[in-house]
Order: sequence, then structure tokens, then C-alpha cells
Amino acid sequence: MKSDTHPTYHKVTAVCACGNEFELGSVLSEVRVEICSACHPFFTGKQKLIDTAGRIEKFKKKYAGYQGSKKK
Ligand SMILES: [Zn+2]
Repeated sequence: MKSDTHPTYHKVTAVCACGNEFELGSVLSEVRVEICSACHPFFTGKQKLIDTAGRIEKFKKKYAGYQGSKKK
């Protein structure tokens, strides 16, 4: 049985975009996340605009146009 097929699994410090740091196990040496339990609206109870670029609205417009242009 080979012993070098698995990367080393170790504890790393994950850094969130909000500045929160927490430990987790990973094969990576550094983990960066955009959202964590400390800043996620679900946990904070605050409304935070994650969709800053209005991507959802753009998608809705695009989808609406696609629906409209599609002739049966
Ligand atoms: Zn965070």
C-alpha cells in the first residue's frame, strides 16, 4: 500500500473577508473565504448586501429577454 498518495492534512487558519480567523483542517496551507459564520447575515441577523454588483438583477433581465425573444 502506497503511503504518499494522500496530501498532508493539517490545521490551517482560514481568513475571512470580514477579518475573522478560524481554524479548520485542510490540505491547503492557506484558506481564504468571503463569508463565515461571524459575518453571514443568517448568523448576524443583519441585512448585508452580498450581491454588490447587482448580478441577480442582471440575470433576471437577461432571463426575461431570453424568454421574450424565444418564439414558439
Ligand atoms: Zn466573515
